[in-house]
Amino acid sequence: MMTGALIGLVFGSFVTMLSYRLPRNMSTISPSSHCPKCKANLKPIDLIPVFSWVFSGGKCRYCHNPISVRYPIIEIVTAVLCAIAFVITGFSFSLVLALMIIVAGVTAATIRLEKWRKK
Ligand SMILES: [Zn+2]
Repeated sequence: MMTGALIGLVFGSFVTMLSYRLPRNMSTISPSSHCPKCKANLKPIDLIPVFSWVFSGGKCRYCHNPISVRYPIIEIVTAVLCAIAFVITGFSFSLVLALMIIVAGVTAATIRLEKWRKK
């Protein structure tokens, strides 16, 4: 189950990246992750899902602008869903399918919520 949650955290940070870049027509491959405020390139240590956010107090380490709480929330939601999927399916082809559905579903839900909030 912990394995499922850890995989989920990795996928969760992928989801936050997708849900930020897709509606803005940005490349999902490059540039590498950076702070939207100060454009500082983020190092791997800044990209540990949830933990980086908690240890930095929800702020960018470089410009100290607050980072939206939605990032760790999305990561936790994805991790929980993946842990559940892992418990149900174990290491199997079904797990791969479940992970794809979770990533697509959480990304779509996040983009919807963001658009809805702007209205
Ligand atoms: Zn910054």
